[in-house]
Amino acid sequence: MTEDKIPRTSRISGFHKLAVDERIEQVAAFAGLADDHRRQLALPSNIDTHLADHMIENMVTTIAIPVGIATNMRVDGRDVLVPMATEESSVVAAVGNAARQCYESGGFATSMSGTEMIAQIQLLDIPDPVRARLLVLERREEIENICNACDPVLVGLGGGFRDLEVRLVDTPAGRMVITHIVVDTRDAMGANAVNSMAERLAPDIAAWTGGRTLLRILSNLADRRVVRARATWTCDAIGGTRVRDAMIDAYQFADNDPYRAATHNKGIMNGISAVVLATGNDTRAVESGAHAFAARTGRYRSLTSWEVTAGGDLAGAIELPLAVGLVGGAVKIHPTARALLAILQAETASDLTRIIAAVGLAQNFSAMKALATEGIQRGHMALHAQNLAFAAGAVGNEVGEVARRIIAQRSINEAAAGTALAELRGQ
Ligand code: NAD
Repeated sequence: MTEDKIPRTSRISGFHKLAVDERIEQVAAFAGLADDHRRQLALPSNIDTHLADHMIENMVTTIAIPVGIATNMRVDGRDVLVPMATEESSVVAAVGNAARQCYESGGFATSMSGTEMIAQIQLLDIPDPVRARLLVLERREEIENICNACDPVLVGLGGGFRDLEVRLVDTPAGRMVITHIVVDTRDAMGANAVNSMAERLAPDIAAWTGGRTLLRILSNLADRRVVRARATWTCDAIGGTRVRDAMIDAYQFADNDPYRAATHNKGIMNGISAVVLATGNDTRAVESGAHAFAARTGRYRSLTSWEVTAGGDLAGAIELPLAVGLVGGAVKIHPTARALLAILQAETASDLTRIIAAVGLAQNFSAMKALATEGIQRGHMALHAQNLAFAAGAVGNEVGEVARRIIAQRSINEAAAGTALAELRGQ
């Protein structure tokens, strides 16, 4: 495709009807992908054994997860095609559908509190914790120098030490003095960076206070790295006031009942973790941070909030800590993660973070809308029926036919898929 024909809009109609190689072409043209990235996307099992063997211990194989592209996303005025790695059906479609319904009203707008991570140093056996806390706080300049000397590359990129906090935490094992070093890790997720600083600093803290340091590790409750996204869905776009009000009721249920909130937030993480995984970032770090943040008031609550605007439209917002990077960990070494990041065209870790937050909000919109109207199963079942057909042993055209039959019979389960396949083959 020539430059002037490159589609710069994320609204690619009929994308799902294209063959896989045609989709790769469209995405590559949209993002202007280099040939090596384009080739990498076309490899179904795309990680070299030698590389995999060096990424983790005792490697025996790899497991491939499908990567889909969410269309229709517009984030801070820019159209983006978003790669999502997930084994669950309906997740990619849910994001594209939600994004389509708010595209005309501007898509998603985002903001961030910063790119600062916290590392904790635990100090024990302190008879006078109040005094120890002040002893540490008095050393702020020295601490800044020690931390920054650990990572001249980061400091050269404008990152490094930013702040010092010392907290007293009462536990059944006594009062502990917990030092937080706050470090701007820029385009890195930052775990290794801040862990190194905490380990380097700990002996000094022990010496200054006369106590014993134990754990030295980052906190995944990255509340200095909070991202927010918001979007407005017009009442017309979502199907009227009844749908809107039902969605508000669904949200209130989640925000006030932890049993519901857990599932509501799981849906949000369906979207968020899929992009985190596709980009080679640490899904567990993001998930633990999100859930800890959801419980920060002492009650586990919704990560999103929903309200009706003065004009009667539906406004949604999401806010959560999101520690992802463009360098470090697997991000720079996994060739598929690099190719997928190239599709996103994120220049900074903050760009990536903002897109991921928008995906979380979009996912939540679709899940709540489905639950509050027709129920989740209808949309879910078409692909689920195909998975059951595969599991029953269907191949080629049999897959679609078996799925169609069990949906028509309204018995979408493994036994029905087996029977439908046997009948089909018997014909
Ligand atoms: P890293 O140490 O591999 O890379 C970060 C370093 O890259 C920085 O310290 C800096 O020196 C350098 N760098 C180069 N260009 C940079 C730029 N533009 N911006 C910032 N730094 C730049 O990785 P990391 O991000 O410190 O750590 C991430 C890894 O740590 C992930 O693999 C994660 O799974 C793992 N990890 C996580 C936890 C946890 O979440 N609890 C704990 C330990 C390790």
